[in-house]
Amino acid sequence: MKKIPNTFGLDVQADELWEYSSVAELETWIAQGRITAPYLHIGSGSNLLFLGDYRGVVLHSRIIGIETLYEDDHRVEVRVGAGMLWDDFVAYSVDHRWYGVENLSHIPGETGAAAVQNIGAYGVEAKELITAVETINLQGEKRIFTVDECVYSYRDSLFKRAEMKDHFVTYVRFRLDKTEHYTLNYGALKHELAKLPVIDLPAVRRAVIGIRESKLPDPQLWGNAGSFFKNPVVSRACFEQLYRQYPQMPFYEQDNRQRIKIPAAWLIEQCGWKGKALGAAAVYDRQPLVLINRGGATGQDIRVLSDAVQQSVYCRFGIDIHPEVNFIG
Ligand SMILES: Cc1cc2nc3c(=O)[nH]c(=O)nc-3n(C[C@H](O)[C@H](O)[C@H](O)COP(=O)(O)OP(=O)(O)OC[C@H]3O[C@@H](n4cnc5c(N)ncnc54)[C@H](O)[C@@H]3O)c2cc1C
Repeated sequence: MKKIPNTFGLDVQADELWEYSSVAELETWIAQGRITAPYLHIGSGSNLLFLGDYRGVVLHSRIIGIETLYEDDHRVEVRVGAGMLWDDFVAYSVDHRWYGVENLSHIPGETGAAAVQNIGAYGVEAKELITAVETINLQGEKRIFTVDECVYSYRDSLFKRAEMKDHFVTYVRFRLDKTEHYTLNYGALKHELAKLPVIDLPAVRRAVIGIRESKLPDPQLWGNAGSFFKNPVVSRACFEQLYRQYPQMPFYEQDNRQRIKIPAAWLIEQCGWKGKALGAAAVYDRQPLVLINRGGATGQDIRVLSDAVQQSVYCRFGIDIHPEVNFIG
């Protein structure tokens, strides 16, 4: 049995944990028929909730590196190994004065998973920068999916569908700008940067990291997987009914104001969960969207808390909040 890395700090094992460093190595395993169900491809386990040990093979990419595919005075297209730490890629881009990815600084995990999850923060999503995703499947077929073929939406992609479980991401291609521009429409980031006389890429990165460190628990101290729930998006009719009852409710209009995103953190806090624990699992006191392991929690403990939170939000507001975290088992 092999310990499975995960930022919830859960003590979980897999029958096998196989790591490969090149597409050729993975191709050989596939050709030899070594990868048989059950199997699971992971990144660094920062968005996974294991409900118990994994009775099968866990696969992990160690393909790293950044290769420039195209470059002119205005933009650059790069190909990044799926096993490369996401934040190493962001730091590299900022060092090279490539614009676009800086708001996604310090998000844990690897580049392959970033393309699976369509990670996002502070007004930017990975899908805006991705041009293509390279994969290999269990039949040994290699395919490059264009960004449109990846069917990206909020923390979702083609690769999260059950029928795509046998596709492994090997490389991700991104287009970044060389012309100076920033996305600063997110309140806290705008506020931080307004204090500076001059804004540049390193300053934006530092500000993002500072905000994240003040709001999110360090997984080394409190096991967690970042935002546990997605923010629900409701119809305008549903929103208006709720808003009459809760005029202080924060909201963000989308799709020509027809659909409204409501912060799940606000809904959870209103239900009295902020800082509340159920055994070894708790709702983080500085950010109620985050569930934490207070020490010694099992995946089941976290699930019990998550179910209770979901249920109280539904009872009070009639809104279903869904986990962003991937449950395994
Ligand atoms: C403190 C903290 C803060 C966070 N903040 C944010 C945030 O601001 N925004 C955000 O979007 N997320 C955030 N997250 C969630 C997490 O960082 C992202 O979801 C990240 O992309 C997960 O990367 P990972 O490498 O750990 O993937 P894992 O959690 O190991 O896997 C995630 C999914 O990707 C699949 N997968 C991984 N690698 C591959 C591959 N090569 N091929 C095929 N499938 C693969 C897995 O099967 C799984 O379905 C946060 C998490 C933590 C702990």
